[in-house]
Amino acid sequence: MAAEIADLIATRIRDVPDYPQPGVLFKDITPLLADGVAFAAVVAALAAGSYDVTKVAGIEARGFILAAPVAYTLGAGFVPVRKHGKLPAQTYAESYQLEYGTATLEVHTDAFHPTDRVLIVDDVLATGGTAAATASLIRQAGATVTGIVVLLELGFLAGRGKLAGLPVRSLVMV
Ligand code: AMP
Repeated sequence: MAAEIADLIATRIRDVPDYPQPGVLFKDITPLLADGVAFAAVVAALAAGSYDVTKVAGIEARGFILAAPVAYTLGAGFVPVRKHGKLPAQTYAESYQLEYGTATLEVHTDAFHPTDRVLIVDDVLATGGTAAATASLIRQAGATVTGIVVLLELGFLAGRGKLAGLPVRSLVMV
């Protein structure tokens, strides 16, 4: 089963060299999303095992596409973690280092209840900064992070190192 999912994903992710900047090999998930059988299988695999989760946090923008159906599958709520300035009500903010400059992610201050157990979902785990900032936001908002699940992990960037103590699961590691 794991091997079948890994093959479904590997054959439907398109490598785009030098996007969005020279030297980056961008992992384009749009061919995977466009295949209904593969999309359903991937959502089921991302959701597998997370029965005790009350909310799923998705990271703008591609994380939304995966996290919302995972939340629906689990019977959990969906919470958007958005780029600076996009959420309308009061927010917590967390800034983190990118290769060039910094980025800021935000979540609504009332997005979670203290009893919430939150699964973070994203498409790609690269250096881990985005996922670490998201975990920090969820904790600031008073909830518990149960783990992080991603479609694809770029193992050579060692993103797990920034997520010490959190279970990280990836469907495919490259
Ligand atoms: P990082 O904070 O370095 O782990 O980067 C993770 C975030 O950036 C995720 O939300 C990904 O969508 C995006 N990302 C980083 N590297 C890539 C890549 N090579 N291909 C596609 N998306 C990427």
